[in-house]
Amino acid sequence: MSFPRVNVVWFKRDLRVHDHAPLALASVEGPILPLYVVEPDYWQLPDVSRRHWLFIHDSLGELNAELTALGAALYCRTGRIVEVLEDLRQKFGNIALWSHEETGNDWTFTRDRAVSAWCNAHRINWHQKPSNGVVRGLKSRDGWSALRDKRMAESVIPAPTNLRVPADIAIDTVPAKDHPMFGETVGSVQKGGRSEGLRVLDSFLKKRASQYMMTISKPGISARHCSRLSAHIAYGTLSVREIEQATKMRIAELAVDLDPASKYLHKNLSAFLSRLAWRCHFVQKLEQQPSIEFRCMHPAFENMREPHFRQDFFDAWAKGHTGYPLVDAAMRSLHANGWINFRMRAMLVSFASYHLWLDWRQTAPHLARLFTDYEPGIHFSQFQMQSGVTGINTLRIYNPIKQSMDHDPEGKFIRRYVPELSSVSQQWIHEPWRLPEPPPLYAKPLVDHDAAIKMARDWIAECRNATYFKDDARQVHAKLGSRSKSADRKPRAKKDKAQLNLDL
Ligand SMILES: Cc1cc2nc3c(=O)[nH]c(=O)nc-3n(C[C@H](O)[C@H](O)[C@H](O)COP(=O)(O)OP(=O)(O)OC[C@H]3O[C@@H](n4cnc5c(N)ncnc54)[C@H](O)[C@@H]3O)c2cc1C
Repeated sequence: MSFPRVNVVWFKRDLRVHDHAPLALASVEGPILPLYVVEPDYWQLPDVSRRHWLFIHDSLGELNAELTALGAALYCRTGRIVEVLEDLRQKFGNIALWSHEETGNDWTFTRDRAVSAWCNAHRINWHQKPSNGVVRGLKSRDGWSALRDKRMAESVIPAPTNLRVPADIAIDTVPAKDHPMFGETVGSVQKGGRSEGLRVLDSFLKKRASQYMMTISKPGISARHCSRLSAHIAYGTLSVREIEQATKMRIAELAVDLDPASKYLHKNLSAFLSRLAWRCHFVQKLEQQPSIEFRCMHPAFENMREPHFRQDFFDAWAKGHTGYPLVDAAMRSLHANGWINFRMRAMLVSFASYHLWLDWRQTAPHLARLFTDYEPGIHFSQFQMQSGVTGINTLRIYNPIKQSMDHDPEGKFIRRYVPELSSVSQQWIHEPWRLPEPPPLYAKPLVDHDAAIKMARDWIAECRNATYFKDDARQVHAKLGSRSKSADRKPRAKKDKAQLNLDL
């Protein structure tokens, strides 16, 4: 029996039916098979965790419900993608493959190359469509921003209607949340799924954003006033374009409202829009240079920290036992919740990279596993920036005591996550080692702040003195640097200092 060509729509980090170009285009071509593949080899990688799976699991449940309502239930398989595709080719004979372009880690990049080779070998068309603001095959970073803005302004693609499916195909089930393949159990996890993503977006635009910039760096309350959309964007339950357009509509509504509160909300939403653009900018870096997962952007910093790695320092940092209260509270809260604000993420990395002199390649997978929203493009770029190895960014060394005094002055966040300090007064909470009798159960500081920072600065300065440092830095900037005031540079507007982090 011969079948018409079956259009296999491979869902990856785009778990939605709205604003999904591959699904929309494939559905007009003929019968479609929506496919999700759980790849056991992927789930053994050091940078993935059950926390990611739990979010994906929720999202797959809703995706399946939406697809089923449109007429084509999600076909979920566990195994290697090439083997799954080969099975489908054997079954249907004539298939085409559709997906979004993915900018993932090295494993997914290698996997995609294997898929491409398999497609070529069998003369199968793989239609890959752009994802969010990332431009594949970009020759120069000049003009990228305009290309991204143009894409964001294009109409959101509606969900297709009446999907046609190929004849009989047995639907496999999605592995359970507690399947052992996904590793260790974790603390709480943000709920996934598109309806949750839309709810979170709506509450942010209507209300929560009113205190966005005022609280963005406060470890306790930022969880409420930041958008909390990062995991939804990372797994694609919402597209960046949908979010950006909804935000712009809200800004337009607020622009005609004379209430001063609306003006404030308007400003906060503009700051949020900048961050959505930064997101695409960072992912674009990994798209253009996949090696940034493994190699310092600037070669002068290779081998600077690696020989000095200390497992005992790493273990103390990873578990939140460094003796620096805010560092420990931030790490422990991440273990518990899977999200923390930008400033605390940057401080955790800064502390590991400068105070403990740990190589960023050792510390990045640990935080990747803890973050529900792990997005390789942002993650590795930010790790390199916060570790001072890009050669194009201002050195940003966070003083964990100052951060604590500035952003958790009463120590409420610290006491919540570090119970050993629950009875320490506000006067000593930021530096409990200075108490005449320090709390016996709390760790002593692993290093002295001033001494550690001096050593770090000296080492960095030595690398920066290399003869070719400036030439190499120019090349890094030409390939990966921002062309305007942006996430890469010191923002000029005083009002948007939240991510400047120059409080050395
Ligand atoms: C070391 C380090 C690692 C990070 N790893 C990740 C990661 O794996 N995944 C991730 O989504 N974000 C990462 N970030 C960036 C940032 O901290 C998070 O995007 C943000 O805290 C997510 O919360 P939100 O959605 O409420 O952010 P909001 O402040 O509401 O911002 C809205 C969106 O803009 C994007 N965004 C915000 N800040 C940044 C930034 N500085 N750079 C790039 N994009 C940004 C995110 O997509 C975010 O969802 C990292 C930051 C650091 C310092």
